[in-house]
Amino acid sequence: MAAIEIDPETGLKVFTTRAGKASDRIAGSGYSVNADAAAKTLPPEPAGAKFNAEEQAKYREFKEARAGAADFMAMDGEFSRYLDDVYSEDPVPRESLDDECDVLVIGAGFAGLMIWHKLQAAGFTNARFCEKGGDVGGTWYWNRYPGIACDVESYSYLPLLEEMEYFPTMRFASGFEILEYCQAMATKFKFYDKCLFHTTVERTEWDDEAQRWTVHTDRGDAMRARFVVLANGLLTSPRLARIDGMETYAGESFHTSRWNYDVDLEGKRVGIIGTGATAVQCVPELAKVVGELFVFQRTPSSIDIRDQKATTPEQIEAWKSEPGWARARRKRFSRISAGRAAIQANEDYLDGKIDHFRERKEHGAKLSPKELVQRQLDSNFRIMEQIRARVDSAVEDPEVAASLKPFYPYGCKRPAFHDEYLPTFNLDHVHLVDTAPLGVQRIDESGIVHDGVDYPLDVLIYATGFKWMATSTFNMVVGKGGRTLTEKWQDEGTRTFLGLHSNGFPNLFIVSGPQGGGGSFNFTDALDAHGNYIVWMLETMAEQGAVTVDVEEQVEFDYAEHCKMADIATAPLRDCISYYNGEGQAEPGSLAYYGGGNWHKWRIRAQETLDPYVFGRSATDGAARQGPQQLS
Ligand code: NAP
Repeated sequence: MAAIEIDPETGLKVFTTRAGKASDRIAGSGYSVNADAAAKTLPPEPAGAKFNAEEQAKYREFKEARAGAADFMAMDGEFSRYLDDVYSEDPVPRESLDDECDVLVIGAGFAGLMIWHKLQAAGFTNARFCEKGGDVGGTWYWNRYPGIACDVESYSYLPLLEEMEYFPTMRFASGFEILEYCQAMATKFKFYDKCLFHTTVERTEWDDEAQRWTVHTDRGDAMRARFVVLANGLLTSPRLARIDGMETYAGESFHTSRWNYDVDLEGKRVGIIGTGATAVQCVPELAKVVGELFVFQRTPSSIDIRDQKATTPEQIEAWKSEPGWARARRKRFSRISAGRAAIQANEDYLDGKIDHFRERKEHGAKLSPKELVQRQLDSNFRIMEQIRARVDSAVEDPEVAASLKPFYPYGCKRPAFHDEYLPTFNLDHVHLVDTAPLGVQRIDESGIVHDGVDYPLDVLIYATGFKWMATSTFNMVVGKGGRTLTEKWQDEGTRTFLGLHSNGFPNLFIVSGPQGGGGSFNFTDALDAHGNYIVWMLETMAEQGAVTVDVEEQVEFDYAEHCKMADIATAPLRDCISYYNGEGQAEPGSLAYYGGGNWHKWRIRAQETLDPYVFGRSATDGAARQGPQQLS
């Protein structure tokens, strides 16, 4: 079958560009059920404990010691090999495209798949997707490290479960199961026909005269689109720590997001740099295979309870008899998750058996915003005391336990959930190398050198994470007047409306970018809200006869100010060095959104009044002079 054909019924192009699997060795499962009840129980909360001056000083010291230590670099030049797609065969050959479609979506992860489902349902079928990888899945395509699983219960996390008639096998489905689920969604909803795989968008340029975007890719395409949706994730570009001598290392090495299953780890001396959510999941699995494992930690993660469980036949029976069960459950889940997705989940509430997930407390006097934050800091401190006490109860060596204790507010860095990670450090062949506060500083030909000690390694694994919230800038988005989004935000500070629009970039939707709220701890919520919004906007424009949509500068300014204020108001809860806050360097309100339900208030007001929007109604003058134009 040719890679590009024309559907005789619709006249639209049909693609066959999904790449074959590179190797059957790429397989695995998330971690297993831990039967030890003690490992799944947090020590009791220290009742009444306060985040007092002494405790605040400890957090401050912990933070200040690390200030300026985080130094990351992009994977270019000789390090670009770390970005190779190790999961797929070579790209399917195809001709370059210079044709036009209505909606071009960048990304074929959860966001792309969900948006396609919504577009199709609303009749916007002249859509096309560009995906860097060889198959669907996004995060779940790239991240295939041993032990990978979702951190939000899969019954609420996986989209479209009712439509797929699917029941995840575990409470926290393995990443491998999630990838297969994405592939099943793509097949069922005929997504593969719409997607150009192994196609990286390099530049997306607005043509004001034609009122179209031109999308340039690394496959020589220059496709025109009326609308562009950036659905390429918020943790998409892997990053490396910048470490002296790293280019001299002679052993095998890779980044966790390109796990090289051709490298046999059995019995080897393996080093892993980083202890974020990725390392927390893969360290226990690595320990099962390798000869010696060295975990190089700069900052410990908070390791909360996981409590993995297999899905029971009774659960499945109950769901089968409840139409819309997953949507209802996700809605309930979003009310209780608030960051501690695993342990706060009250099963009876999630199952819809009771109406409230906690006892309703009668509040006394209304608290001022400052008092409210202090109260949150105190309860946050008590959670962290439990997390720290858990380290003591799980880790035998007191020195190792001391190193594994985090001193920052819960949720300031990405919380991790695991019941096997901490006990892994009791194994004789697993060694924690505490590199605080500056991290690994030197690599040589044979391995890592730290504090005058040589750690020769057969394999070095970088678990050093990803760039955060750069979705909207990866693809060199060039708006009106030839200015890129990056330039605009550098000049004026990050400014969007709802995170989805940015003035001067008409007909562009940014999914899960800076200032883009609407979700909960469950990322699928935000994608759902953003997808619904985009389809609503396309329908509204069709009704209005609008060809373009932009947002009023003032509204955008006001929204950005709102984000800034929301960020400042809750900043003490995020007083640490984290990728969430640009390693402590980000301007308030420029990255994540901290307004909770307010995002929906702004959205609803905008949808009711249409005040924030500037609709252009003709291809030539942008005013409402010509008749309605519908999307095809
Ligand atoms: P990450 O959270 O950014 O962690 C990077 C790690 O590398 C940090 O521990 C960092 O320490 C460390 N590091 C960097 N330079 C270092 C140096 N020179 N020496 C020693 N350590 C160094 O990345 P990640 O673990 O890949 O996770 C990224 C995100 O992906 C997560 O936060 C999560 O949102 C997502 N994720 C989700 C799941 C899931 O849902 N199941 C699983 C995995 C990942 P510092 O903290 O000191 O900078």
